[in-house]
Amino acid sequence: MIAHNLGYPRIGSHRELKRALDQFWAKKITPQQLQDVARQIRQANWLTQQQAGITLVPCNDFSLYDQVLDMSLTVGAIPKRFQPLLDTPEPDLLGLYFAMARGQQQGDLDLKAMEMTKWFDTNYHYIVPEFSADQTFSLLSEKVFTEFEEAKQTLDTLPKPVLLGPVSYLLLGKTKDTGFDRLTLLDRLLPVYEQVLSRLQEQGADWIQFDEPCLALDLTINQRDMLASVYRRLHDRFPTLKLLLASYFECYGDNLTLVLQLPVEAIHLDLVRCPNQLTDILSTDFVHQKTCLSLGLVDGRNIWINDLEKSLATLRQATKAIGPERVMVAPSCSLLHVPCDLSTETAGLTTQLNQWLAFARQKLDEVATLTILSQEPGHPQAAARLAANQAALQARRESSHINRPAVQQRLRQLTEQQARRGREFAQRQTVQHDRHKLPLFPTTTIGSFPQTDAVRANRAKFKKGVKTLTEYEAFIASETEQAIRWQEEVGLDVLVHGEFERNDMVEYFGELLDGIAFSENGWVQSYGSRCVKPPIIFGDVYRPAAMTVRWAQFAQSLTSKPVKGMLTGPVTILQWSFVRDDQPRRDTCLQLALAIRDEVVDLEAAGIGIIQIDEPALREGLPLRRENWDAYLDWAVMAFRVAASGVQDQTQIHTHMCYAEFNDIIGAIADLDADVITIETSRSQMELLDAFARFAYPNEIGPGVYDIHSPRVPSVAEMVDLLQKATTVLPARNLWVNPDCGLKTRRWPETTEALKNMVQAAQTVREAV
Ligand code: GLN
Ligand code: ZN
Repeated sequence: MIAHNLGYPRIGSHRELKRALDQFWAKKITPQQLQDVARQIRQANWLTQQQAGITLVPCNDFSLYDQVLDMSLTVGAIPKRFQPLLDTPEPDLLGLYFAMARGQQQGDLDLKAMEMTKWFDTNYHYIVPEFSADQTFSLLSEKVFTEFEEAKQTLDTLPKPVLLGPVSYLLLGKTKDTGFDRLTLLDRLLPVYEQVLSRLQEQGADWIQFDEPCLALDLTINQRDMLASVYRRLHDRFPTLKLLLASYFECYGDNLTLVLQLPVEAIHLDLVRCPNQLTDILSTDFVHQKTCLSLGLVDGRNIWINDLEKSLATLRQATKAIGPERVMVAPSCSLLHVPCDLSTETAGLTTQLNQWLAFARQKLDEVATLTILSQEPGHPQAAARLAANQAALQARRESSHINRPAVQQRLRQLTEQQARRGREFAQRQTVQHDRHKLPLFPTTTIGSFPQTDAVRANRAKFKKGVKTLTEYEAFIASETEQAIRWQEEVGLDVLVHGEFERNDMVEYFGELLDGIAFSENGWVQSYGSRCVKPPIIFGDVYRPAAMTVRWAQFAQSLTSKPVKGMLTGPVTILQWSFVRDDQPRRDTCLQLALAIRDEVVDLEAAGIGIIQIDEPALREGLPLRRENWDAYLDWAVMAFRVAASGVQDQTQIHTHMCYAEFNDIIGAIADLDADVITIETSRSQMELLDAFARFAYPNEIGPGVYDIHSPRVPSVAEMVDLLQKATTVLPARNLWVNPDCGLKTRRWPETTEALKNMVQAAQTVREAV
């Protein structure tokens, strides 16, 4: 029985790669020094896996920036604008690689970075390949061969190169020219993959892992046929190479029949996301074939310890049906999505919580322990680990840190009624307009103002204990006061307090809620050198005390204009955290919703008449398969409504979402029944408002009139133009005027200019109606 792994975090257990990349980009270290750091991380990773007892260790899972971009370089899919970087006697491939990832401005060369988007339903972002109709491919980068050689030198066993499969690679890309199907490029692409395989074969490789995560999505018949022909062809040309086909994050679903027929040596199953898949497979005549099954038993997407006893039962089920020689043990997906090593946590988490957690390094031990125990149940060390594991799980089930009966009871007693505002929107709108007496096209912002160096420095000093709480709070108060004065001067209608006291929109609430913990070093790669440290929702969530009332009330006390209260919604807190796995996500989300609801009610009682509940992550929570969308949207919408519905009709609830694809979920957005929604629209020239218009969206809406992602100051005329477009599709009385998103990452000079212009644009449009 083989213990293997699909991929290991490459950022380094102390973010060594992040540091090296940032230094390299700042020209503080040489390419050679960067490569040295990278090589050290790879070797440490390989040895760690080998020492843990993984016998088939992946290579080429490392990346300096992104594995999809690596594939683009391997097959020479270089967008035309980057060609000048190749047309030199000795092209600098590393320079080209980072130019594609991050853009490059040098002399009269201004190369726009390639697009980045989320990797399936994870928080990892990949660089989207760009294909043209006349696309050609050729072997360009030697990375996979070099890393295979390096791994071979390092390990006692033959490493397993990981390649993003050709079908997923093409499907993850986008076409520059319209009217052609990117899968038609397969004929041109496959020869390069074959070149790669034959080189690897010459180097002595036997196992090759082909990741085809597109198998987690709904595929057309044509796409399935393509997959079948690709793997038949690769098998025919390389009959002795052992191909392991991996997909994850979802069941194979309708793609399963196809997958089971592919001429590959092994098929990987994500048994965490899709536990029933194994039973389904074992009930077919697959049992009589020779193909191996790689059982993804250890959760590669979350940080909880495995239930080893339960996994062993699954292993027994498999070995009984197909024999141990056809069974492989693995994490459910690459370990890229979890932090590196729990043993680097010295102070962040309590020892109590620690015993229930497993990061990448600990997950390797779990895979190895399962492999040993399933072959040798009495193995002394492994048996001891099993006993400790079961004891920890037992303690977790019974822990009073996790189980808060009052929270659970409140959830059980939640009624439909609590998820409904008093009266219909139309009636609420009248009362709210009477109360706030705002002009037509009221102006507002999304919440945060520039987080200047001074703001960050003060927070850091306070955290380090260099500044006292009193000093820190005095600083926040003065920043907030300046922001209020400044907004009055600019002439905004609905003000915000500016969020100077917040480090991050989820972390801030996570730290104030019970049942949520923060690691010290639990970094996960988000893209390139950027890492995030997701909160860990470990137990029943509740709010021990008001979280935002104080600053909201303070800000409101400074002005006669309405100040908008500012909260992060339950779905977003859930989506950007590691979520407990011992109850449905729905229940955790509703607990968060009840906590936010209490805050909303407290804000109202403190005299805050307008409250915004941000839900920028609502859409990204959508399951990969459409058939599961409704179930998700049901509870996600319910959670928002629970959070929003504790208040009187005259209290105006806003929500905010920063993305532009609403067509698919416009019904759910309307079901949120927020009095006002502010959204990103400026980059799509208001096109997305069509979705709202077609749907006859009834509530108020603030389409963003300028892009906050760049320092560029928009002119009054262009914002007037956008607003006029909006009035042609939606009633003027429902429209608000605001930027696309929060202004946290901007600087004050451009913020001032842009918002002055925005207020002026609103004035112009008001006069015109
Ligand atoms: N209120 C938050 C801010 O202004 C919203 C950010 C977001 O939705 N991404 O920063
Ligand atoms: Zn936003």
